[in-house]
Amino acid sequence: MKTALVLGAGGFIGSHLVTRLKSEGYWVRGVDIKKPDFSESTADDFVIADLRDPLKTSLVMYSPQQVSAARAGMTHSFDEVYQLAADMGGAGYINTGEHDADVVHNSMLINLNVLDQAYKKNVKKIFYASSACVYNEHNQLDPENPNCKEDSVYPAQPDSEYGWEKLFSERLYATYNRNHGIDVRIARFHNIFGPEGTFDGGKEKAPAAICRKVASTSTNGEIEVWGDGLQTRSFLYIDEAIEGVRRLMNSDYKEPINIGSEEIISMNGLAKLVSELANKNIKIKNIPGPQGVRGRTSDNTLIKEKLGWTPSQPLSEGILKTYNWIASKIEA
Ligand code: NAD
Repeated sequence: MKTALVLGAGGFIGSHLVTRLKSEGYWVRGVDIKKPDFSESTADDFVIADLRDPLKTSLVMYSPQQVSAARAGMTHSFDEVYQLAADMGGAGYINTGEHDADVVHNSMLINLNVLDQAYKKNVKKIFYASSACVYNEHNQLDPENPNCKEDSVYPAQPDSEYGWEKLFSERLYATYNRNHGIDVRIARFHNIFGPEGTFDGGKEKAPAAICRKVASTSTNGEIEVWGDGLQTRSFLYIDEAIEGVRRLMNSDYKEPINIGSEEIISMNGLAKLVSELANKNIKIKNIPGPQGVRGRTSDNTLIKEKLGWTPSQPLSEGILKTYNWIASKIEA
């Protein structure tokens, strides 16, 4: 049986990834500082551990086979490690500047520890969750025509410290590949959303926040949208993202690659879409707030070519499932 270690398994993408790996027959250990917020983890073993601590990181990296194999004088680590643990959130968390020191310090320590311990425990293959936030802000000034091709990332000018940390960590993973032979896979996620994602408390992202606002508002009510609402993004449904991750892990492509959607939409457009799907006639009030870059969308040219992957469903399908899930949570 193949074994996988999922770091950040108490989070949104990590908890879905654990379930996918279990359905494929893996033995899975999940690690996080917290359990998943909305349902029990499906991992075989779930360890609460702070990955900023090198000793704790070292301990969770021993696979069950490694423990018994060590007794027989052999080394055998997890077949696959997925590194998704990070201090992160939506624009209200990473674009205000208020959390920058925590974001960089915490995520940097996690990545330094994880790679060092993966190397020492003889891990062969590791996935790293990077972000579209690595892209140069000067290429994202036109909301209709942002450039997020993988090779546009340098010269670098991410618009947030979160993006800088992700970019530096991409480089860190590449160094361990070059100097220590660890096989790395790096995905640049573009706004992943879906059921069981955070929808309140300050770390939520735009789709979840807008679904929450619409679900909490009367049929002819009003919701607030940050900025003029003309800033654009694209959003990818969680199941599609997990499919992309699995394809990437099974491929031999080692460079950073976008996993996202090319269906670009403005924030006001997203609010209208949610309102229509909810059968409500919501008015939009644009208010000052953190917005990030003016426009951003995935460029899937490379992933189509390398992995033959592209999202299979339109944005509206994923938004409807997410809206229904958030509305049911709010009702409950
Ligand atoms: P999330 O916040 O739900 O999950 C991250 C998890 O990391 C959380 O459960 C958190 O508790 C855990 N964590 C934080 N500090 C830790 C520590 N010191 N030790 C152990 N665990 C710790 O976020 P997510 O949406 O599931 O994102 C997963 C990964 O993908 C992150 O690295 C994120 O930066 C990246 N990413 C996500 C998106 C997105 O749209 N969701 C976009 C780009 C990149």
